[in-house]
Amino acid sequence: MDLEEVETVAVLGAGTMGHGIAEVAALAGFDVALRDIKEEFVRAGHERIEASLSELAERDEVTTDEADAALDRIEPVVEMEAAVSDADAVIESVPEKRDVKRNVYREVGQYLGEEAILTTNTSALSVTELSEVIERPEDFCGMHFFNPPVRMQLVEVTPGAYTHDGTVETVMALARAMGKTPMRISRDEPGFVVNRVVAPLLNEAAWLVHDGVASAEEVDATARYGIGLPSGVLRLADDIGLDVLADVLGYLHEEFGPAYEPCPLLAEHVEAGDLGEKTGAGFYGYDEEGRPSSEISSDAIREDVERRLLAVMANETAKLVGADVASPTEIDEALMLGAGFPEGPGTLADRAGLTSLYETLAERQADAPRYAPAEALVERAGAGENFHNDFSETDSESFSDLSIEIVDRVGHVTLDRPHRRNTITRDLLDELVEAVETLEDDPEVRAILLTGAGEGAFSAGADVQRIAGDADAIDGVELARKGQRAFASLEKCDMPVVAGIGGDCFGGGMELAAAADLRVAAHDAELGQTEHEFGLLPGWGGTQRLPDLIGESRATEVILTAARYDAETMATYGFVNEVVDGDDVTERALDVARDLSAGPPIAQRYTKRAIRAGRQSREAGLEVEAHAFGQLLNTEDIVEGVAAYLGDHEPTFEGK
Ligand code: NAD
Repeated sequence: MDLEEVETVAVLGAGTMGHGIAEVAALAGFDVALRDIKEEFVRAGHERIEASLSELAERDEVTTDEADAALDRIEPVVEMEAAVSDADAVIESVPEKRDVKRNVYREVGQYLGEEAILTTNTSALSVTELSEVIERPEDFCGMHFFNPPVRMQLVEVTPGAYTHDGTVETVMALARAMGKTPMRISRDEPGFVVNRVVAPLLNEAAWLVHDGVASAEEVDATARYGIGLPSGVLRLADDIGLDVLADVLGYLHEEFGPAYEPCPLLAEHVEAGDLGEKTGAGFYGYDEEGRPSSEISSDAIREDVERRLLAVMANETAKLVGADVASPTEIDEALMLGAGFPEGPGTLADRAGLTSLYETLAERQADAPRYAPAEALVERAGAGENFHNDFSETDSESFSDLSIEIVDRVGHVTLDRPHRRNTITRDLLDELVEAVETLEDDPEVRAILLTGAGEGAFSAGADVQRIAGDADAIDGVELARKGQRAFASLEKCDMPVVAGIGGDCFGGGMELAAAADLRVAAHDAELGQTEHEFGLLPGWGGTQRLPDLIGESRATEVILTAARYDAETMATYGFVNEVVDGDDVTERALDVARDLSAGPPIAQRYTKRAIRAGRQSREAGLEVEAHAFGQLLNTEDIVEGVAAYLGDHEPTFEGK
C-alpha cells in the first residue's frame, strides 16, 4: 500500500495517545475511525479532541473551519469491524501490555483488508515479538508518536524482523503527511531511541532522591537550569505517569538486565496510588488545575547531580550507538524532536567531556550495575574521541597551518599558509576543529574571528595539489566528510563567529566563510564557488549552506557559473554583511567580533541553536526557540540587561 492509497485511518484506543493521534490524522485530511472498547471511552476521547481543536483555533494555529472539518472527519466507534474493515492504515494505541496488544491484532486480522497496513504506537515493546501473531507481519511496523501528538514532532518508525521495506516507506510517508518528522530506527530494540535515554535518566533522578544524595528540588533545578532540559526530570516523570514509567523500566530491566533496575521509589508511589500529576501526587503534589506544589528554583543546582545525570545519558547514547540502533546525530535529533531537549544527549556529553563522564560512571560502578560504562563509551573516552567528531586531543600549541591569538575576549584564528594563499589541507581541517574546541574551552573567549594571513587571500580553497595527490574515490568521500565536520564545528560553536575576508575567497575558502555567522569583506576581495572549473563540486557543505544563506536561486547561480564576484555583489546577494576598505578588513572584523563578545552568551548560544534546528524543520526550530526563551527568563543576564536598559548604561553579561 502506497501513501496515495491511504484515505482512511483507524486509531485503536482513544486514551492519552490515541485521541491525539486521531486528531493529528484528521487535521491532515484523513478520514478517521476512532475505536475504544466502551462507548464512554470513545466519547471521552472525542471530547478531548474537540477541546484540543478549539484550543488550536483559539491560538490561531488552525482556522475554525479547519478545526470543524477535522472533527467531522472523525467517526467514534466501538465495533472492531466498523473500525478497521474500511481502513487503509491502522494505528494501534491500546495499553502497553503485550498480551492486550496481541489480542487486538488477532481481532483486527478478522476484518482488515488485504492491502491495509497495521502499526503500533508501542513505547518499548519489541515490534518483532508483537508481530508474531499477525498474519501479514510484512505489513506491520512500529509507529511511535510522542505525547502530546499534536505538539511533538517526532515519530519513531521501527520495522520488525519481518517488515517489508515498502511498508516502512509508507509509514514514513504517512507520518510526514500527518505533519510529523519520522525517524527510521535501525534496530528493533526495546525502548527504541528516545525512551532508551529518557527512562534511565528519570530512573537515575529517582535513585538520587531514594539514596538521599539530593532532594527532588535539587535534581530538578539541576536538570532544568544546570543542563537546560525543558523541565525538571522528576516533574517530567510525574507528567508521564509513574505507573507508565515503572512499566517501561520494568520491561527494559527484563530485557537488558540489572542496569535498568527500577528505583524502588517508583513502585512505592504506584502502590500508594500516587501516579503523578494525573492523581494529584507523585514526586510533587498537584492542585486541581495540575499546578505543582513547588516551583523549581535556579538556586538549587548541584554539580555532582549534573554529572551523574549527564553520565547516565552519555552511557545510554553509547549503548545505542554501539548496538547500531542509531547514530549520535540521530539520537540527538530524536531527543530534540521527541522530548523537546534544546540539544541532544551526545552533544551535551561532548560538551561536558566524555572522558570525565566515563570516569564518573567508572567510579560508581561498584555501587550499582547501572553505572557500568558501555563498551562504546569506554572506547571513545579511551581514544579521546567525542560522539560528534573523531579527532584526538592534541597539544594546543601544536598548530602549524593556523595560529590562535586571544585579543580582548575574541579568539582570533588565522589561516597561516600565506605561501600557498591559505589553501586548506587535511591538517588544517584537523587544526581548525582543535582550535574551535580550545577556544570553546576557554572561559575568557566569547567570540571567534577567522582571517587569512598575508595580503593575498582569505583562502583560495582546497590545496588541490596536495589533495589530488592522495585522493582515490573512497578517500574523497572521507575527505568531504572531514571538511564538512570541520566547518560544522564553527557553525555548531556556541559563540558568534565572524569571518574577515581580504583577497581571494574561493572554493573551500568560501565554504569556510559560509560556516561563520557574519562576514566582513574587503572592498577588493573576490569570492566564488569555483569548484565546477575543475569538474568538482563544493564538497565541504557548500551545496547546503550557501542556499541557506542566499537562497537556492542565487546559490545555484554561484555554484553552476563558478564565477568570481566582487564583495559588493556578494553583499547584495546577502552573503557578505559588510564591505570595508581593503586595509581595514581585519581591524573592522575584529571590532564586530569584539562587539559580539560583549553580547549575552546564553541568548547568543540558543539563537544559533534555534536557527540551526530550524534548518531541520520549522517545528524543531520553534521548539528550541520556545524552550530557550523560557530558560532565558530565569538568567542573571536578563536581570542585567533590563537593569542596564533602565539605568541607561552598557550591560555586562556574564552568561549566567
Ligand atoms: P491509555 O491507557 O491512556 O489509553 C489506552 C486506551 O486503549 C484506553 O482508552 C483503553 O480503554 C483502550 N483499549 C484497551 N483495549 C482496547 C482494545 N482492545 N481496543 C481499543 N481500545 C482499547 O494509554 P496511552 O498512554 O494512550 O498508551 C497507549 C499506547 O501508546 C501504549 O502502547 C503506550 O506505551 C503508548 N505511548 C504512550 C505515551 C504516553 O506518554 N502516555 C507516549 C507514547 C506512546
